[in-house]
Amino acid sequence: TTDVSLSGRTRVLTVSNQKGGVGKTTTTVNIAAALASVGARVLVIDLDPQGNASTALGVPHTADIPSVYDVLIDEFPLADIVQVSPESPNLLCAPSTIHLAGAEIELVSQVAREHRLKTALDDYLANLDERLDFVLIDCPPSLGLLTINAFTAAHELLIPIQCEYYALEGLSQLLGTVRMIQKHLNPALHLSTILLTMYDARTRLAQQVAEEVREHFAREVLETVIPRSVRVSEAPSFGQTVIAYDGQSAGAIAYREAAVEMIRRDTASGEEGGA
Ligand code: ADP
Ligand code: MG
Repeated sequence: TTDVSLSGRTRVLTVSNQKGGVGKTTTTVNIAAALASVGARVLVIDLDPQGNASTALGVPHTADIPSVYDVLIDEFPLADIVQVSPESPNLLCAPSTIHLAGAEIELVSQVAREHRLKTALDDYLANLDERLDFVLIDCPPSLGLLTINAFTAAHELLIPIQCEYYALEGLSQLLGTVRMIQKHLNPALHLSTILLTMYDARTRLAQQVAEEVREHFAREVLETVIPRSVRVSEAPSFGQTVIAYDGQSAGAIAYREAAVEMIRRDTASGEEGGA
């Protein structure tokens, strides 16, 4: 394992970008598994009705399984739905099921509709025997009520950016939504981390996109870049993260480096400092 010192509190990050296919789910599960592999205790909350994060973590999520839907709509305690990933005892998952597709509409008429996830998560975290170091929330590709629940429950926003054309397109809309959330629902939410992903070092375009993003967000962008890699895209079909599927692959190494960077950055900026 790598020598990292954890911050001693639970960091809640929402992984968001309203564009689909930019690597949100891939980033969520692989950062989570990488964090777990260096000794962090991590919960992934799958807020996407497609359930791809649950699949990648090897967690059953058929329609009969209690899921985030039951938490949001029927006020199940989060503890009743959380499962342990077969990959690591440090890696937990609150699965999504197909029912979550209806939650976006069902939430509209509910009381405290924006706070449902936060209420459930705060209650869960307050009653754990062993503290979690990270909670990562995988969002659907839209700015609807599911994503707003994630923004209300989180402290930090992690944006994966695909090193492709139009990488920054839609980012101002996302950041506008974040400002609205800060004002009305959750003043603690802030953009802490940007991860460049699907980077193809052979193309000028990827280099240009990376440079442009670093110019705009000098403080937030991680040094580590996730390469485009077949192993990363294959892993979910085996119900695994790339960390378990091929731990020595370039993608797995990059995700572990990114995870260590996330831990180090936080401890470096915190009052306690590093160990
Ligand atoms: P999102 O959750 O934003 O919709 P995904 O994480 O599902 O995006 O990724 C979209 C597609 O890109 C998936 O097929 C995934 O396997 C692939 N992908 C993501 N990251 C990489 C990578 N680093 N290398 C190769 N393929 C990737
Ligand atoms: Mg996804």
